[in-house]
Amino acid sequence: MKFGGTSVGRPERMQHIASMVTKETEPVIVVLSALSGTTNALVEIGTFMANGDRVSAKQAIEKLEKHYQSFIKELLNDKTYVEKAKAMVAEHFEFLTIILKISFSESLSKDILAQGELLSTKLFSIYLEEKGIEHQLLPALEFMSIDQYDEPQIGSIKVKLSQLLKKHKSKTLFVTQGYICRNARGEVDNLKRGGSDYSASLIAAAIGASVCEIWTDIDGMHNNDPRIVKKTKPVEQMSFEEAAELAYFGAKILHPASIWPAQQYKVPVKLLNTMQPEAKGTLITEKAGSVGVKAVAAKDNIIAIRIKSSRMLLAYGFLRKIFEVFEKYRTPVDMVTTSEVAVSLTIDSAVHLKEIVKELEPFGSIEVDKNQVIISVVGNEISQTEAMVKKLFGSIMNIPVRMVSYGGSPHNISLLVPVEYKNQILQQLNKGMFGL
Ligand code: ASP
Ligand code: MG
Repeated sequence: MKFGGTSVGRPERMQHIASMVTKETEPVIVVLSALSGTTNALVEIGTFMANGDRVSAKQAIEKLEKHYQSFIKELLNDKTYVEKAKAMVAEHFEFLTIILKISFSESLSKDILAQGELLSTKLFSIYLEEKGIEHQLLPALEFMSIDQYDEPQIGSIKVKLSQLLKKHKSKTLFVTQGYICRNARGEVDNLKRGGSDYSASLIAAAIGASVCEIWTDIDGMHNNDPRIVKKTKPVEQMSFEEAAELAYFGAKILHPASIWPAQQYKVPVKLLNTMQPEAKGTLITEKAGSVGVKAVAAKDNIIAIRIKSSRMLLAYGFLRKIFEVFEKYRTPVDMVTTSEVAVSLTIDSAVHLKEIVKELEPFGSIEVDKNQVIISVVGNEISQTEAMVKKLFGSIMNIPVRMVSYGGSPHNISLLVPVEYKNQILQQLNKGMFGL
Protein backbone atom coordinates (compact mmCIF):
# COMPACT_ATOMS: atom_id res chain seq x y z
CA MET A 1 0.00 0.00 0.00
CA LYS A 2 1.58 3.24 -1.16
CA PHE A 3 0.32 6.56 0.11
CA GLY A 4 1.14 9.81 -1.66
CA GLY A 5 2.04 13.20 -0.24
CA THR A 6 -1.51 14.49 0.22
CA SER A 7 -2.54 11.23 1.89
CA VAL A 8 0.01 11.85 4.64
CA GLY A 9 0.16 15.65 4.37
CA ARG A 10 -2.04 16.42 7.38
CA PRO A 11 -1.91 14.84 10.85
CA GLU A 12 -5.51 13.59 10.67
CA ARG A 13 -4.82 11.98 7.29
CA MET A 14 -1.81 10.16 8.67
CA GLN A 15 -3.98 8.91 11.53
CA HIS A 16 -6.61 7.82 9.04
CA ILE A 17 -4.01 5.83 7.10
CA ALA A 18 -2.96 4.07 10.26
CA SER A 19 -6.53 2.92 10.80
CA MET A 20 -6.74 1.78 7.18
CA VAL A 21 -3.58 -0.30 7.16
CA THR A 22 -4.39 -2.01 10.44
CA LYS A 23 -7.70 -3.25 9.02
CA GLU A 24 -5.86 -5.37 6.45
CA THR A 25 -5.99 -9.12 6.91
CA GLU A 26 -2.90 -9.89 4.82
CA PRO A 27 0.59 -8.72 5.84
CA VAL A 28 1.24 -5.25 4.42
CA ILE A 29 4.22 -3.19 3.35
CA VAL A 30 3.30 0.48 3.60
CA VAL A 31 5.27 2.78 1.30
CA LEU A 32 5.10 6.48 2.08
CA SER A 33 5.89 9.64 0.14
CA ALA A 34 7.08 12.77 1.87
CA LEU A 35 4.38 15.06 3.31
CA SER A 36 2.91 17.16 0.50
CA GLY A 37 5.05 20.21 -0.25
CA THR A 38 8.15 18.82 1.45
CA THR A 39 10.02 17.55 -1.60
CA ASN A 40 9.35 20.85 -3.38
CA ALA A 41 10.71 22.70 -0.35
CA LEU A 42 13.80 20.46 -0.30
CA VAL A 43 14.37 21.07 -4.01
CA GLU A 44 14.21 24.79 -3.27
CA ILE A 45 16.66 24.47 -0.39
CA GLY A 46 19.05 22.58 -2.67
CA THR A 47 18.75 25.26 -5.34
CA PHE A 48 19.51 28.02 -2.84
CA MET A 49 22.59 26.10 -1.72
CA ALA A 50 23.70 25.42 -5.30
CA ASN A 51 23.49 29.16 -5.93
CA GLY A 52 25.47 29.90 -2.80
CA ASP A 53 22.50 31.66 -1.20
CA ARG A 54 22.90 30.32 2.32
CA VAL A 55 20.67 32.93 3.90
CA SER A 56 17.64 31.90 1.86
CA ALA A 57 18.51 28.23 2.33
CA LYS A 58 18.61 28.69 6.09
CA GLN A 59 15.28 30.53 6.10
CA ALA A 60 13.67 27.78 4.04
CA ILE A 61 15.04 25.11 6.38
CA GLU A 62 13.68 26.92 9.42
CA LYS A 63 10.27 27.36 7.82
CA LEU A 64 10.06 23.68 6.98
CA GLU A 65 11.13 22.66 10.49
CA LYS A 66 8.35 24.80 12.00
CA HIS A 67 5.85 22.98 9.82
CA TYR A 68 7.04 19.65 11.17
CA GLN A 69 7.07 20.75 14.78
CA SER A 70 3.44 21.85 14.55
CA PHE A 71 2.52 18.68 12.64
CA ILE A 72 3.80 16.63 15.59
CA LYS A 73 1.63 18.51 18.06
CA GLU A 74 -1.50 17.52 16.18
CA LEU A 75 -0.39 14.02 15.30
CA LEU A 76 0.60 12.84 18.77
CA ASN A 77 -0.90 13.07 22.26
CA ASP A 78 1.37 11.32 24.71
CA LYS A 79 4.23 13.49 25.95
CA THR A 80 6.81 10.71 25.62
CA TYR A 81 6.04 10.29 21.92
CA VAL A 82 5.81 14.02 21.27
CA GLU A 83 9.30 14.36 22.72
CA LYS A 84 10.56 11.40 20.72
CA ALA A 85 9.19 12.86 17.48
CA LYS A 86 10.55 16.30 18.28
CA ALA A 87 14.02 14.90 18.79
CA MET A 88 13.79 12.88 15.58
CA VAL A 89 12.68 15.91 13.54
CA ALA A 90 15.35 18.08 15.14
CA GLU A 91 17.99 15.55 14.16
CA HIS A 92 17.00 15.64 10.49
CA PHE A 93 16.95 19.42 10.42
CA GLU A 94 20.27 19.57 12.17
CA PHE A 95 21.61 17.46 9.34
CA LEU A 96 20.27 19.98 6.82
CA THR A 97 21.86 22.82 8.76
CA ILE A 98 25.21 21.02 8.83
CA ILE A 99 25.00 20.51 5.08
CA LEU A 100 24.67 24.28 4.76
CA LYS A 101 28.26 24.58 5.84
CA ILE A 102 29.64 22.03 3.41
CA SER A 103 30.40 22.96 -0.17
CA PHE A 104 27.50 21.94 -2.35
CA SER A 105 27.55 18.93 -4.66
CA GLU A 106 25.14 16.82 -6.70
CA SER A 107 25.30 13.94 -4.24
CA LEU A 108 24.67 16.30 -1.33
CA SER A 109 21.49 17.47 -3.05
CA LYS A 110 20.28 13.85 -3.10
CA ASP A 111 20.91 13.64 0.64
CA ILE A 112 18.77 16.73 1.09
CA LEU A 113 15.94 15.30 -1.04
CA ALA A 114 15.94 12.05 0.95
CA GLN A 115 14.96 13.80 4.18
CA GLY A 116 11.27 14.05 3.18
CA GLU A 117 10.54 10.34 3.04
CA LEU A 118 12.74 9.62 6.05
CA LEU A 119 10.73 12.14 8.08
CA SER A 120 7.28 10.97 6.96
CA THR A 121 7.96 7.29 7.66
CA LYS A 122 9.55 7.95 11.04
CA LEU A 123 6.65 10.16 12.08
CA PHE A 124 4.19 7.50 10.99
CA SER A 125 6.14 4.88 12.88
CA ILE A 126 6.12 6.93 16.08
CA TYR A 127 2.38 7.43 15.71
CA LEU A 128 1.87 3.67 15.33
CA GLU A 129 4.01 3.15 18.41
CA GLU A 130 1.92 5.59 20.40
CA LYS A 131 -1.18 3.66 19.36
CA GLY A 132 0.47 0.40 20.38
CA ILE A 133 0.35 -0.95 16.82
CA GLU A 134 3.09 -3.45 16.22
CA HIS A 135 5.10 -2.81 13.06
CA GLN A 136 8.60 -2.68 11.61
CA LEU A 137 10.29 0.23 9.87
CA LEU A 138 12.29 -1.03 6.88
CA PRO A 139 15.01 1.37 5.71
CA ALA A 140 14.64 1.66 1.92
CA LEU A 141 18.32 2.60 1.71
CA GLU A 142 19.11 -0.97 2.77
CA PHE A 143 17.29 -2.66 -0.12
CA MET A 144 16.25 -0.22 -2.84
CA SER A 145 19.05 0.33 -5.32
CA ILE A 146 19.80 1.48 -8.86
CA ASP A 147 22.64 0.42 -11.14
CA GLN A 148 25.15 2.59 -13.00
CA TYR A 149 22.46 3.46 -15.58
CA ASP A 150 20.08 4.56 -12.81
CA GLU A 151 17.95 1.46 -13.40
CA PRO A 152 16.55 -0.50 -10.45
CA GLN A 153 17.27 -4.24 -10.60
CA ILE A 154 14.44 -6.28 -9.12
CA GLY A 155 16.79 -9.23 -8.61
CA SER A 156 19.03 -7.48 -6.12
CA ILE A 157 16.12 -5.63 -4.48
CA LYS A 158 14.47 -9.01 -3.97
CA VAL A 159 17.52 -10.55 -2.31
CA LYS A 160 18.07 -7.65 0.08
CA LEU A 161 14.41 -7.14 0.90
CA SER A 162 13.74 -10.78 1.64
CA GLN A 163 16.75 -10.87 3.94
CA LEU A 164 15.34 -7.91 5.84
CA LEU A 165 11.87 -9.43 6.01
CA LYS A 166 13.31 -12.71 7.25
CA LYS A 167 14.80 -10.86 10.20
CA HIS A 168 11.34 -9.73 11.25
CA LYS A 169 9.36 -12.89 10.58
CA SER A 170 6.84 -12.30 13.34
CA LYS A 171 5.72 -8.91 12.03
CA THR A 172 2.84 -8.35 9.61
CA LEU A 173 2.98 -4.58 9.20
CA PHE A 174 5.99 -2.90 7.59
CA VAL A 175 6.64 0.74 6.80
CA THR A 176 9.20 1.99 4.31
CA GLN A 177 10.20 5.02 2.29
CA GLY A 178 9.21 5.52 -1.31
CA TYR A 179 11.41 7.44 -3.74
CA ILE A 180 14.79 7.01 -2.05
CA CYS A 181 17.45 4.45 -2.93
CA ARG A 182 21.18 3.89 -3.20
CA ASN A 183 23.04 4.25 -6.48
CA ALA A 184 25.85 2.11 -7.89
CA ARG A 185 28.40 4.16 -5.91
CA GLY A 186 26.52 3.42 -2.70
CA GLU A 187 25.39 7.02 -2.31
CA VAL A 188 21.90 8.13 -1.36
CA ASP A 189 19.91 8.73 -4.54
CA ASN A 190 16.28 8.69 -5.69
CA LEU A 191 13.93 7.33 -8.34
CA LYS A 192 13.13 10.84 -9.70
CA ARG A 193 10.17 13.04 -8.85
CA GLY A 194 6.99 11.11 -8.22
CA GLY A 195 9.09 7.98 -7.76
CA SER A 196 7.30 6.58 -4.71
CA ASP A 197 4.88 4.82 -7.06
CA TYR A 198 7.89 3.22 -8.71
CA SER A 199 9.19 2.09 -5.29
CA ALA A 200 5.82 0.52 -4.52
CA SER A 201 5.69 -1.36 -7.80
CA LEU A 202 9.28 -2.56 -7.43
CA ILE A 203 8.62 -3.77 -3.89
CA ALA A 204 5.38 -5.47 -4.94
CA ALA A 205 7.21 -7.21 -7.78
CA ALA A 206 10.15 -8.18 -5.57
CA ILE A 207 8.00 -9.89 -2.94
CA GLY A 208 5.35 -11.20 -5.36
CA ALA A 209 2.61 -9.22 -3.62
CA SER A 210 -1.03 -10.14 -4.17
CA VAL A 211 -1.76 -6.52 -5.09
CA CYS A 212 0.00 -3.14 -5.32
CA GLU A 213 -2.33 -0.43 -4.06
CA ILE A 214 -1.52 3.17 -4.94
CA TRP A 215 -3.51 5.46 -2.65
CA THR A 216 -3.84 9.05 -3.84
CA ASP A 217 -6.39 11.86 -3.60
CA ILE A 218 -8.43 10.98 -6.67
CA ASP A 219 -10.67 7.96 -7.28
CA GLY A 220 -8.54 6.27 -9.92
CA MET A 221 -7.30 7.13 -13.39
CA HIS A 222 -9.85 9.34 -15.10
CA ASN A 223 -10.83 9.30 -18.76
CA ASN A 224 -9.51 12.85 -19.17
CA ASP A 225 -7.60 15.50 -17.21
CA PRO A 226 -9.92 16.59 -14.36
CA ARG A 227 -7.96 19.81 -13.91
CA ILE A 228 -8.92 20.93 -17.39
CA VAL A 229 -12.12 19.10 -18.30
CA LYS A 230 -15.19 19.38 -16.06
CA LYS A 231 -16.96 16.09 -16.64
CA THR A 232 -14.53 13.23 -16.27
CA LYS A 233 -15.05 9.76 -14.85
CA PRO A 234 -12.76 7.10 -13.41
CA VAL A 235 -11.83 4.16 -15.64
CA GLU A 236 -12.69 0.96 -13.75
CA GLN A 237 -10.30 -1.40 -15.45
CA MET A 238 -7.41 -1.18 -17.88
CA SER A 239 -4.43 -3.19 -19.04
CA PHE A 240 -0.82 -2.52 -18.07
CA GLU A 241 -0.23 -1.40 -21.64
CA GLU A 242 -3.01 1.15 -21.55
CA ALA A 243 -1.90 2.40 -18.15
CA ALA A 244 1.70 2.73 -19.32
CA GLU A 245 0.66 4.77 -22.37
CA LEU A 246 -1.51 7.03 -20.22
CA ALA A 247 1.06 7.50 -17.48
CA TYR A 248 3.78 8.21 -19.98
CA PHE A 249 1.65 10.56 -22.03
CA GLY A 250 0.59 12.79 -19.21
CA ALA A 251 -1.78 11.19 -16.72
CA LYS A 252 -0.27 12.57 -13.52
CA ILE A 253 -1.73 9.97 -11.18
CA LEU A 254 1.01 7.39 -11.78
CA HIS A 255 4.76 7.60 -12.35
CA PRO A 256 5.30 6.20 -15.88
CA ALA A 257 8.09 3.80 -14.92
CA SER A 258 5.98 2.27 -12.17
CA ILE A 259 4.07 0.02 -14.57
CA TRP A 260 6.78 -2.36 -15.75
CA PRO A 261 7.74 -4.11 -12.48
CA ALA A 262 4.12 -4.94 -11.67
CA GLN A 263 3.48 -5.93 -15.26
CA GLN A 264 6.53 -8.17 -15.49
CA TYR A 265 5.74 -9.92 -12.21
CA LYS A 266 1.98 -9.95 -12.87
CA VAL A 267 1.00 -8.03 -9.75
CA PRO A 268 -2.36 -6.28 -10.16
CA VAL A 269 -2.21 -2.55 -9.46
CA LYS A 270 -5.09 -0.64 -7.91
CA LEU A 271 -5.38 3.13 -7.96
CA LEU A 272 -7.45 4.17 -4.96
CA ASN A 273 -8.59 7.31 -3.16
CA THR A 274 -7.63 7.81 0.49
CA MET A 275 -10.37 10.41 0.93
CA GLN A 276 -12.96 7.99 -0.44
CA PRO A 277 -11.68 4.49 0.33
CA GLU A 278 -14.92 2.78 -0.69
CA ALA A 279 -14.75 4.11 -4.28
CA LYS A 280 -13.82 1.47 -6.85
CA GLY A 281 -10.85 3.29 -8.34
CA THR A 282 -8.96 1.74 -11.23
CA LEU A 283 -7.79 -1.84 -11.49
CA ILE A 284 -4.79 -2.45 -13.75
CA THR A 285 -4.09 -6.03 -14.80
CA GLU A 286 -3.06 -7.89 -17.92
CA LYS A 287 -6.66 -7.74 -19.12
CA ALA A 288 -8.07 -4.54 -20.55
CA GLY A 289 -11.63 -5.15 -19.43
CA SER A 290 -13.21 -3.71 -22.55
CA VAL A 291 -12.46 -2.71 -26.12
CA GLY A 292 -12.51 0.85 -27.38
CA VAL A 293 -11.48 4.31 -26.26
CA LYS A 294 -10.72 4.56 -22.57
CA ALA A 295 -8.94 7.79 -21.82
CA VAL A 296 -7.20 10.86 -23.14
CA ALA A 297 -4.04 12.39 -21.72
CA ALA A 298 -1.83 15.32 -22.61
CA LYS A 299 1.94 15.64 -22.35
CA ASP A 300 3.30 19.19 -22.26
CA ASN A 301 6.54 20.85 -23.30
CA ILE A 302 7.05 18.87 -26.46
CA ILE A 303 9.39 19.99 -29.21
CA ALA A 304 8.78 18.87 -32.79
CA ILE A 305 11.69 18.58 -35.22
CA ARG A 306 11.22 18.15 -38.96
CA ILE A 307 14.09 16.99 -41.16
CA LYS A 308 13.40 17.46 -44.87
CA SER A 309 15.71 16.00 -47.45
CA SER A 310 15.41 14.77 -50.99
CA ARG A 311 18.28 12.46 -50.12
CA MET A 312 15.87 10.48 -47.99
CA LEU A 313 14.06 9.42 -51.16
CA LEU A 314 14.53 5.70 -51.65
CA ALA A 315 17.59 5.77 -49.38
CA TYR A 316 18.28 3.23 -46.69
CA GLY A 317 20.04 3.91 -43.43
CA PHE A 318 18.80 7.50 -43.38
CA LEU A 319 16.65 7.11 -40.27
CA ARG A 320 19.40 5.27 -38.45
CA LYS A 321 21.76 8.18 -38.93
CA ILE A 322 19.15 10.60 -37.66
CA PHE A 323 18.32 8.53 -34.61
CA GLU A 324 21.98 8.13 -33.78
CA VAL A 325 22.11 11.86 -33.14
CA PHE A 326 19.37 11.53 -30.50
CA GLU A 327 21.09 8.52 -29.02
CA LYS A 328 24.35 10.41 -28.75
CA TYR A 329 22.64 13.11 -26.68
CA ARG A 330 20.63 10.55 -24.67
CA THR A 331 17.40 12.27 -25.70
CA PRO A 332 14.35 10.01 -26.01
CA VAL A 333 12.09 10.41 -29.04
CA ASP A 334 8.35 10.11 -28.41
CA MET A 335 6.49 10.42 -31.70
CA VAL A 336 7.72 9.76 -35.23
CA THR A 337 6.01 10.32 -38.57
CA THR A 338 7.56 10.06 -41.99
CA SER A 339 6.83 10.91 -45.59
CA GLU A 340 9.09 9.89 -48.43
CA VAL A 341 11.16 13.07 -48.18
CA ALA A 342 10.71 14.22 -44.60
CA VAL A 343 10.59 12.90 -41.09
CA SER A 344 9.05 14.62 -38.07
CA LEU A 345 9.73 13.56 -34.54
CA THR A 346 9.24 14.87 -31.05
CA ILE A 347 11.37 15.15 -27.94
CA ASP A 348 10.44 16.37 -24.47
CA SER A 349 13.75 17.80 -23.40
CA ALA A 350 15.42 20.91 -24.77
CA VAL A 351 18.66 20.25 -22.85
CA HIS A 352 20.63 19.26 -25.97
CA LEU A 353 18.38 20.81 -28.60
CA LYS A 354 21.06 23.13 -29.96
CA GLU A 355 23.64 20.38 -30.43
CA ILE A 356 21.05 18.02 -31.89
CA VAL A 357 19.91 20.56 -34.49
CA LYS A 358 23.50 21.34 -35.38
CA GLU A 359 24.29 17.68 -35.99
CA LEU A 360 21.09 17.13 -37.97
CA GLU A 361 21.78 20.03 -40.34
CA PRO A 362 23.96 18.03 -42.76
CA PHE A 363 20.95 15.72 -43.38
CA GLY A 364 18.62 18.36 -44.76
CA SER A 365 16.63 21.43 -43.78
CA ILE A 366 15.58 21.44 -40.13
CA GLU A 367 12.47 23.04 -38.65
CA VAL A 368 11.86 23.22 -34.91
CA ASP A 369 8.44 23.85 -33.34
CA LYS A 370 8.49 24.40 -29.61
CA ASN A 371 5.54 24.55 -27.21
CA GLN A 372 3.68 21.56 -28.58
CA VAL A 373 1.51 19.06 -26.70
CA ILE A 374 1.06 15.37 -27.36
CA ILE A 375 -2.57 14.36 -27.00
CA SER A 376 -2.86 10.62 -26.57
CA VAL A 377 -6.10 8.78 -27.08
CA VAL A 378 -5.74 5.39 -25.41
CA GLY A 379 -7.91 2.31 -25.43
CA ASN A 380 -7.72 -1.42 -25.98
CA GLU A 381 -7.59 -2.04 -29.75
CA ILE A 382 -8.70 1.49 -30.31
CA SER A 383 -7.26 1.64 -33.81
CA GLN A 384 -9.54 -1.22 -34.90
CA THR A 385 -12.65 0.23 -33.31
CA GLU A 386 -15.30 1.04 -35.87
CA ALA A 387 -15.76 4.67 -36.89
CA MET A 388 -13.23 5.69 -34.28
CA VAL A 389 -11.12 7.80 -36.61
CA LYS A 390 -14.18 9.57 -37.92
CA LYS A 391 -15.33 10.32 -34.38
CA LEU A 392 -11.89 11.44 -33.32
CA PHE A 393 -11.19 13.84 -36.15
CA GLY A 394 -14.82 14.84 -36.47
CA SER A 395 -14.70 16.27 -32.97
CA ILE A 396 -11.57 18.35 -33.50
CA MET A 397 -12.01 19.70 -37.03
CA ASN A 398 -11.22 23.28 -35.98
CA ILE A 399 -7.86 22.39 -34.41
CA PRO A 400 -4.59 22.47 -36.36
CA VAL A 401 -2.89 19.09 -35.90
CA ARG A 402 0.87 19.10 -36.47
CA MET A 403 1.47 15.32 -36.37
CA VAL A 404 -0.58 12.13 -36.11
CA SER A 405 0.72 8.79 -34.96
CA TYR A 406 -1.58 5.88 -35.72
CA GLY A 407 -0.87 2.18 -35.87
CA GLY A 408 2.33 2.12 -33.84
CA SER A 409 0.40 0.49 -31.04
CA PRO A 410 -3.13 -0.80 -31.51
CA HIS A 411 -3.97 0.85 -28.19
CA ASN A 412 -2.89 4.41 -28.86
CA ILE A 413 -3.44 7.25 -31.29
CA SER A 414 -1.36 10.33 -30.65
CA LEU A 415 -1.79 13.84 -32.00
CA LEU A 416 0.57 16.77 -31.74
CA VAL A 417 -0.97 20.21 -31.38
CA PRO A 418 0.31 23.65 -30.36
CA VAL A 419 -0.05 24.20 -26.60
CA GLU A 420 -2.61 26.98 -27.01
CA TYR A 421 -5.10 24.37 -28.23
CA LYS A 422 -4.53 21.93 -25.36
CA ASN A 423 -7.56 22.72 -23.20
CA GLN A 424 -9.83 23.06 -26.19
CA ILE A 425 -8.84 19.74 -27.72
CA LEU A 426 -9.19 17.88 -24.41
CA GLN A 427 -12.67 19.35 -23.93
CA GLN A 428 -13.77 18.63 -27.49
CA LEU A 429 -12.46 15.05 -27.34
CA ASN A 430 -14.37 14.54 -24.09
CA LYS A 431 -17.58 15.37 -25.91
CA GLY A 432 -16.72 13.66 -29.17
CA MET A 433 -15.18 10.44 -27.86
CA PHE A 434 -16.88 9.97 -24.49
CA GLY A 435 -20.11 11.92 -24.95
CA LEU A 436 -19.39 13.77 -21.69
N1 ASP B 1 8.30 12.87 -2.56
C1 ASP B 1 8.73 12.62 -3.92
C2 ASP B 1 8.19 13.70 -4.83
O1 ASP B 1 7.48 14.58 -4.41
C3 ASP B 1 8.37 11.27 -4.39
C4 ASP B 1 6.88 11.00 -4.48
O2 ASP B 1 6.11 11.64 -3.77
O3 ASP B 1 6.47 10.12 -5.23
O4 ASP B 1 8.52 13.69 -5.99
MG1 MG C 1 2.82 11.00 -7.08
